[in-house]
Amino acid sequence: MKETKIVLSEQDIPRSWYNIVADMPNKPLPPLNPATGEPISGDALAPLFPSGLIHQEVSQEPWIEIPDEVREIYALWRPTPMFRAWRLEKALDTPAKIFYKYEGVSPAGSHKPNTAVAQAWYNKQDGVTRITTETGAGQWGSALAFACQLFGIKCEVYMVRISYDQKPYRKLMMNTWNADVYPSPSDRTAAGRKILAEHPDSPGSLGIAISEAVEVAATNEDARYALGSVLNHVLLHQTVIGQEAIAQMEIAGEYPDIVVAPFGGGSNFAGLAFPFLRYHLTGERPIRAIAAEPTACPKLTRGVFRYDFGDTVGMTPLLPMYTLGHNFVPASIHAGGLRYHGAGVIVSQLLKDKLIEAQAVDQIDSFEAGVLFARSEGIIPAPEANHGIAVALREAEIARKEGKAKTILINLCGHGNFDMASYEAYFAGKLERLSLSQEEINDAVSKIDTPEIAG
Ligand SMILES: *Cc1c(COP(=O)(O)O)cnc(C)c1O
Repeated sequence: MKETKIVLSEQDIPRSWYNIVADMPNKPLPPLNPATGEPISGDALAPLFPSGLIHQEVSQEPWIEIPDEVREIYALWRPTPMFRAWRLEKALDTPAKIFYKYEGVSPAGSHKPNTAVAQAWYNKQDGVTRITTETGAGQWGSALAFACQLFGIKCEVYMVRISYDQKPYRKLMMNTWNADVYPSPSDRTAAGRKILAEHPDSPGSLGIAISEAVEVAATNEDARYALGSVLNHVLLHQTVIGQEAIAQMEIAGEYPDIVVAPFGGGSNFAGLAFPFLRYHLTGERPIRAIAAEPTACPKLTRGVFRYDFGDTVGMTPLLPMYTLGHNFVPASIHAGGLRYHGAGVIVSQLLKDKLIEAQAVDQIDSFEAGVLFARSEGIIPAPEANHGIAVALREAEIARKEGKAKTILINLCGHGNFDMASYEAYFAGKLERLSLSQEEINDAVSKIDTPEIAG
């Protein structure tokens, strides 16, 4: 029998997270205090994050040990399986070998619990009793709700309005795991009220929801904030994915020429790619790592590398990143998790240094790829994941034209079982092609008022 599913055992759950900063030729620039323009010290983050996570945020150590209790919870769904996509390869008539690492087996159905459980654990160590957060498509909120419940921490979620309306089941998952969920913009915060005053029908955005959750954490002593993407410690926690994937590729007797993952703020991309990039940086095993973003929110392929706020209202430190400007509100595409104006600092620096690549995918093409995937492999991917699959199909097509047997590894970062309304819209022909004109990009970017980064 051909080997289809490559599994590891519980002992193979990684013992450390991999911190790529230690191996980067150019370290990321520091976050800045917007008021003074000076680098932010770790202490300034204390109102928002527990000490263990702040330590990880600024760490230059290559390996950070995973606490036993976190590994034990990981064992509920890790190690995750890897599959050889035989039927997809056949459908594409490509000589490329396609593999996918499936993170949808977690309780929340995506990669997000890898960091949610770790973050809840470090908050628990500092005696935090309440964690606030934002969620876009609902995957992050449900992951954090699940993680907080395991540690007896109250979870308060600001959910982007468009997703709150489109995905009631995600909200109910969070409620099942004992979380309180509010549509954002909400009238519970000054940030939310300001947006509502200007745009009563605002569909919301991740940036707005972040502003609300940050405000509540910063103004309440018992509360801390948790972010599901973008930050260094979040990317760090996701590196269990790539470490397992390296072991699984070894079992398969292959090594990828290309790893590809969808890109919102960069965490599942980093999770898969960074452990492979470790060997790319040393020159031992070169690889192409491709981030797949939506054409409706193309910060990596069309944005600028600048200091910008992580949120919409301007409460966070300034982060050096690829961005479309913190005021940019992307169209209401169904891949809610990819509607973020910026990108993680580490991935941004890697892109600037041409150590990773990015490609943009239109939402119609992404669903076309996702449906072909579902019809070949069975699993119905999350709309976000469809972007990565679409890029893999492009690369497989190039391999077919060139007659080259490339090996491609996709991060299938979540299933789409709660996203069937978006598939319905696709089948009904209700999705639009969304590409921004250069004028629209220039207009968005011209609103960034921080100085250009020299060099
Ligand atoms: C959150 C999410 C994303 C986007 O976030 P990243 O930090 O870029 O990974 C993509 N896919 C799924 C399924 C998600 O839940």
